[in-house]
Amino acid sequence: MGNYELTIGLEIHVELATKSKMFCGCATTFGAPPNTQCCPICLGLPGTLPLLNRTAVEYGIRAGLALNCRINPVSEFARKNYYYPDLPKAYQITQHDKPLAENGFLEYFLDGQLTKTTITRLHLEEEVGKSIHSGDSIIGSEYSSIDYNRAGIPLIEIVTAPEIASPKQARVFLEQLRLTLQYLGVSDCKMENGSLRCDANVSVRDIEGNPGEKVEIKNLNSFRALERALAYEGERQAVLLSQGKQVLRETRTWDEKAQKTVRMRLKAEAPDYRYFPEPDLPPLELEQVWIHEIASSLPELPLAREERFQKAYGLSEYDAGVLVRAPHLADVFEETVALGHSPKLTANWVLGDFARLARQGEVVSAQHFGELLELVSSGQINNNQGKAVLEEMFATGASPREIVQKKGLTIIQDLGFLKTVIQEALNEHSELVERYRSGEDRLLGFFVGQVMRRTGGRAEPVLVNKLLAEALQPGRNWEPHKE
Ligand code: ZN
Ligand code: MN
Repeated sequence: MGNYELTIGLEIHVELATKSKMFCGCATTFGAPPNTQCCPICLGLPGTLPLLNRTAVEYGIRAGLALNCRINPVSEFARKNYYYPDLPKAYQITQHDKPLAENGFLEYFLDGQLTKTTITRLHLEEEVGKSIHSGDSIIGSEYSSIDYNRAGIPLIEIVTAPEIASPKQARVFLEQLRLTLQYLGVSDCKMENGSLRCDANVSVRDIEGNPGEKVEIKNLNSFRALERALAYEGERQAVLLSQGKQVLRETRTWDEKAQKTVRMRLKAEAPDYRYFPEPDLPPLELEQVWIHEIASSLPELPLAREERFQKAYGLSEYDAGVLVRAPHLADVFEETVALGHSPKLTANWVLGDFARLARQGEVVSAQHFGELLELVSSGQINNNQGKAVLEEMFATGASPREIVQKKGLTIIQDLGFLKTVIQEALNEHSELVERYRSGEDRLLGFFVGQVMRRTGGRAEPVLVNKLLAEALQPGRNWEPHKE
């Protein structure tokens, strides 16, 4: 970037996880056969009237409060007029001059530093239909089909101030925003399903602070696409300016295949939406009591949880961050610690094999998990056996004690028995014993292996090592069972 600084602002559209649409009773199930979840209202047929979904408003308020916004006691719906095949009414019901929420912020850790990004506004609007292109993208497709199932699903649009300084910061901000909305339960935020979508405004200014032209980038449908598109676009603008050329005000799209941004339209070609207040909906007046109720029902948010995990449980910043970003793991961690198990041991296990086995989202109960930690920490089974038991717990749902019993997995610490096994192994390989005694130390591993094999892996490894080292000393010969 050399002598130029990036300025990024984000606009994020989030589908709310309501059962029915914003202004009608149609279902919102993702992946239903095309055009099976529509009615005259969401298709905008003449003579229909919208009726506002209370839960959509509640979710919007929840999100606004969690983002530290002021919730406006009166907000207003407006019509955004434009023609596009996925918009059957030829206008979108949205909020314009008077949004639901304004002036908030979101905090997150960026390279270990607590960082804050201003949320300029959060407003409610309805989703449009979905164009399905015959080719890979709108560019070069022969035809497109339209699915109106999505038309009318409630959305919130969240707009940040143009104060994000790097592609990485944009990604970290968006990750924290997504996690926050997931903790709130207002959206599943699946970028791959389009329930969270992000557009970016990018400009570069030179070191004298002269602001550049703003370019909007659309179609950023993964965290990776966001980061790469911003890096590409920042570089493109910096190169233009360094060559004395102009950056044009325009809308570009991220071409995933070519890994570059491509012009969609110049700003001069942008439609004038002719916003006006929606005549079919009265202003949205909110009772303070309801806002307070919603505020007091907010869950602990990710940042607070991350800080608590470090302070209350002594977890590292890294461990706390990984747990909080995977709520199903963080929950089982907390429940297990609440049963009296050591936070450090619990975190180690949860972040290890447990995390791998829980990838499908299913977890075992804290009760069973705690029982397993007990078996391992009291030395009744060793670490490797513990991992095998955990694997089985995920596969069958059985309790660790049942599994240990059924598989005969108890650990062998019986000195007499272990000495017998060791002596047998040494007798059988007397030549190797001589070689060990004359200096080939590395043969110890071979003997450990022999003992483990003869005990089906159930011998306590530390004990085996200790007993073997003794037995292999020159001139030493046990007389097992006669001690
Ligand atoms: Zn409908
Ligand atoms: Mn919008």
